[in-house]
Amino acid sequence: MDVTTMPSTNSLLERLRKDFPAINFVPDESFEWDAKNNTIHIALDDEHFAERCLHEVGHALLKHSNYDKDIDLIALERDAWEVAKTKLASIYSVDVSADTIQDDLDTYRDWLHARSSCPECTAVGIQTKKHEYRCLACRTTWRVNDARVCSLRRYITT
Ligand SMILES: [Zn+2]
Ligand SMILES: [Zn+2]
Repeated sequence: MDVTTMPSTNSLLERLRKDFPAINFVPDESFEWDAKNNTIHIALDDEHFAERCLHEVGHALLKHSNYDKDIDLIALERDAWEVAKTKLASIYSVDVSADTIQDDLDTYRDWLHARSSCPECTAVGIQTKKHEYRCLACRTTWRVNDARVCSLRRYITT
C-alpha cells in the first residue's frame, strides 16, 4: 500500500469515533489502552499514529484487561497487532508495517529481559509473583514495578 494513501490524523480519528462509539478516544502524551474506562489514549504527534490507533483498537476489540505474568503482556501486544494488521488495516486503509510491529515487540522483549535479569549475577530469573522475580542460580529475589499495556515508553529508556 502506498504511504500517500494513508488517512490524515483527523479523518482516521473521526471514523474510529463513529465506528466505535463505546470507546473514548482521548489525546495524551502516549498511546495506552485503559480497559477499566474503555478509553484509548492517543498521542497525536506519534510518527506511527495510524498504526498505533489500530493497535489500541485491537486491544479494545480483544477486551484485553489484565495479565498475570510479564510474558503474557507480550502476547497481548502481539495479538493486538494481529487484529490491527489482519482485520483493521484494510478497512481504514492503513499500512500496518512489519517494522512497526517488530520495533514495538522488541521494546517489550528488551523490557522483559531487563526485568528478569538477576541484579546480583545477571542470570535470567523466573517470575514468582506479579511483582517479583527469583534467580534460580543465586536465589536472589527482586521486585519490579507495575507496567501497563502500551505505556512502556514511559518506564524504560533505550
Ligand atoms: Zn542471580
Ligand atoms: Zn499495545
